[in-house]
Amino acid sequence: MNDLLKRELRNKAMEMGAQQAAIFTLDQIVFDQRTFLKCLFGCPGGMPYCPSKQDVANSLVYADIIKNYSWGIILCTEDLKLGQKITLELESRAFLSGCHFAFGATECENCDACSFSEKGTCINPKKVRPPLYALGIDVYSTAKNLGWGLQVVQHKGDPAKNITAVFVE
Ligand code: SF4
Repeated sequence: MNDLLKRELRNKAMEMGAQQAAIFTLDQIVFDQRTFLKCLFGCPGGMPYCPSKQDVANSLVYADIIKNYSWGIILCTEDLKLGQKITLELESRAFLSGCHFAFGATECENCDACSFSEKGTCINPKKVRPPLYALGIDVYSTAKNLGWGLQVVQHKGDPAKNITAVFVE
């Protein structure tokens, strides 16, 4: 079943517009709690999943919990909104296939104007998941592990790659 599901998830991601999609095993994911330092200092952190918006102890627990998964699918898109859409679609497909703990990791760009960053209240929490860095994952080293080129964007506004994932089971 897993091989079929892996193929289905990958095909769906590419069909929906992902630039790259790869099945990973947990040992390819690089965990590094320094991501929390980068979130807590030097970033305004306007989203509900930002470690600066909640007790950082919660983030440390999430980082630990995510290590219970054994495999998943990681995606590269150019667009945050599309990345979120594909991630949530794959999470749903994996769940309906019987992987009841399937869980997406993505930034949220669901609303044109984010009411959480403006008023402190999210109007669609069903769409919100923590992105990889909020789970203590070093996205750059993980991408390198997968053979994907991922460079730090040098200038504000330059095209950036968006990396999201679904932890399947
Ligand atoms: S669902 Fe909307 S309000 Fe909630 S975090 Fe996402 S963009 Fe903000």
